[in-house]
Amino acid sequence: MTTPPRRPAFPSGTILGYPRIGPNRELKKAVEAFWGGRSSVEELEQVARGLRRQTRERLVGLGLGRTDSSIPESFSYYDHVLDAAVAFGAVPARFTGLVNAQGRVDLGGYFTIARGEGDSLPLEMTKWFDSNYHYLVPEIGPETVFSLASDALVQQFSEGLQQGFLTRPVIVGPVTFLALSKPSDEAPEGFVPLSRLDDLLPVYAELLRRLAEAGAEWVQLDEPALVSESLDVSSADTSAAAARAYEYLGAPDARPAIFVAAPYNSLGDALTVLAATPIEAIGLDLVRGTVPAAGAAGLDPLASKTLVGGVIDGHNVWRGDLAEAWQKLEALRALSPSVSVSTSTSLLHLPHTVEPEQLLGDQLKSWLAFADQKVEQVATLAEGLEKGVAGIRSVLEASTAALAARLAAPGVSDGAVRAREAALTAADFAREDYAVRAKAQEQALNLPFLPTTTIGSFPQTGDIRRARAQLVAGVLSDDEYQAVMRAEIARVVELQEEIGLDVIVHGEPERNDMVQYFAENLDGFAVTQNGWVQSYGTRCTRPSLLWGDVSRPKPITVDWSVFTQTLTEKPVKGMLTGPVTILAWSFVRDDQPLGETARQVALALRDEITDLQSAGITVVQVDEPALRELLPLKKADQAAYLDWSVGSFRLATSGVEASTQIHTHLCYSEFGVVIDAIDQLDADVTSIEAARSRMEVVTDIKSSGFARGIGPGVYDIHSPRVPSVGEVTELIETALASIPDRQVWVNPDCGLKTRGYDETVASLTNMLEATRAVRAKV
Ligand code: GLN
Ligand code: ZN
Repeated sequence: MTTPPRRPAFPSGTILGYPRIGPNRELKKAVEAFWGGRSSVEELEQVARGLRRQTRERLVGLGLGRTDSSIPESFSYYDHVLDAAVAFGAVPARFTGLVNAQGRVDLGGYFTIARGEGDSLPLEMTKWFDSNYHYLVPEIGPETVFSLASDALVQQFSEGLQQGFLTRPVIVGPVTFLALSKPSDEAPEGFVPLSRLDDLLPVYAELLRRLAEAGAEWVQLDEPALVSESLDVSSADTSAAAARAYEYLGAPDARPAIFVAAPYNSLGDALTVLAATPIEAIGLDLVRGTVPAAGAAGLDPLASKTLVGGVIDGHNVWRGDLAEAWQKLEALRALSPSVSVSTSTSLLHLPHTVEPEQLLGDQLKSWLAFADQKVEQVATLAEGLEKGVAGIRSVLEASTAALAARLAAPGVSDGAVRAREAALTAADFAREDYAVRAKAQEQALNLPFLPTTTIGSFPQTGDIRRARAQLVAGVLSDDEYQAVMRAEIARVVELQEEIGLDVIVHGEPERNDMVQYFAENLDGFAVTQNGWVQSYGTRCTRPSLLWGDVSRPKPITVDWSVFTQTLTEKPVKGMLTGPVTILAWSFVRDDQPLGETARQVALALRDEITDLQSAGITVVQVDEPALRELLPLKKADQAAYLDWSVGSFRLATSGVEASTQIHTHLCYSEFGVVIDAIDQLDADVTSIEAARSRMEVVTDIKSSGFARGIGPGVYDIHSPRVPSVGEVTELIETALASIPDRQVWVNPDCGLKTRGYDETVASLTNMLEATRAVRAKV
């Protein structure tokens, strides 16, 4: 028997990934300039190279090692799952025109797959585990020919090496890649992408060999699929696939050492499976998950591997308790003598740095850690692992003291808010029967068959953004700003009247973001100036910080809605963001159960909705696009989540009369698992994303027996493409084939804020023409 090659040691501290957008969203700007024809591909590549170099240097400056494989090579132009699809030749048939004679797709083609072109729809987009990051869903069928079709990762590693950094390439692991894929259009009924594992593995092996040749000592394969119980494939299947995959990839000598990272929760039984394979290191999420019990069956082989304890929260901004993190690392040492420290997830979910934030105040800042501060925390704990805890004791104590100060600070607990929450009864969570409401609303609103509406926002033009910036800068007075916004609302109302929409929206011009806007107007929140986080592609959001008890000092949206209603005879839909989404898209306090925080937000919204009703608004939409996103990955945690999330929505919306029509909106596909919860929201009308999946969701709706109003989106708003009348007609008819006529509403997939006016007018006009055609037929 030959002895396995000696592998270099895993670094004592690392992170699973770093933000890719750049500290000032440089990548977003460069990519959009390229899309807009304002720069060349060379210019874009130069910006990307610059950012990668800056990241490597920054990470060394923050305490990671220059040449010990601790720096992850985790760059992506758009999405890391798309990167893997393109790297392995998994390009759907409708895009084969983009593949050149060498089997490769260039950068322009890569973006085309992400964004669609002409009649070729882009890859579907969906949430990455329980985060607000969205990945593109690869399409795999029996016909997919896997091959190593990109050397981007090898090049990026070599680029680092030339600059004097020995980094660690990061790629989505084979099990996760296939588990997240969907069957291609060509695949037969019942085809499962994971069944192609054996064909894909040799391509991964080749990539590993190439990386080893280039000098990589460690490679990171991300396998979050192994922690999730809410994928299309079962945990038993992903575990079995992991056993095959890592037995195979671990076999050759000519490869880098393999680090399999499992962020977002605990591995459960999959840990035993990984322990039995020849991989060298395993990353555990010890923020969401717990330290496995030493001595548990099947874990003995861990003693010969490096265990990388993800004890620094990569998914939330709190400075946290470093002393507790240290204890988890100590506990991990019972399983293996070789323990390293890491973040629980990639830092992709966090803004770059706390330091330049001027609005936060020193106290709040002392409670926070963004990506750079998390790297410093990792470096501190790594020092403890290397040299003993004595040297870092004072840092651990300072973090414990900061946490204690935070919990005792004014505003973190507000007696009035707590008392109101404690007095709630079951009646506060329920409305009258739907039958009663439906009749009252029919009389009040008198809407036609197939009522049409939009999801709320209209294009956020340069003028609108400029006016907001000028208000913040003090160039525009409050009154002047109000006048600009009112003019915009008047324009949007007139446009909707012209096009013929039935339920009118004000277009949300005054909102910078659907969550931040409310955060700015509620107590208990703070907002950042530059805390941008990638949501998908070049789209970034700036999550608010929910740090204290939440209350509403005064009405927020009432004046805007009332003004809008003066402009039209048609019903105006008030527009609010729901409690679950406000939580999901903020960084939320971690010192009390989420459900409690959600009820506080719900009570503030409940007051807003009753104020809207008193002011004469008869339709109110409460958006909950993030309902699915926060669904826990582990089945055992799901019922409790659905209970508090649904409960908070009902608490927000149950204070109104029967004649007030409550709408909700949810986006992104995969509704199957939450369809019962959607039903329990008890909204009068629910609009959902459906166009990208060509109305697949209506079958779920049909089988669930959902009996209230439903608006499956009839066109995709994520791309500038204008849907034809025929296409929209077909989708409406598909919906009508499954759902009783009277329930169906016609609307786009989501809000229009990221679109331009030309395509918006053209698309909505086609939507109305299609609706009229269907109305005439029925
Ligand atoms: N009302 C919001 C809008 O139209 C909803 C956005 C969303 O679902 N993400 O912009
Ligand atoms: Zn939406």
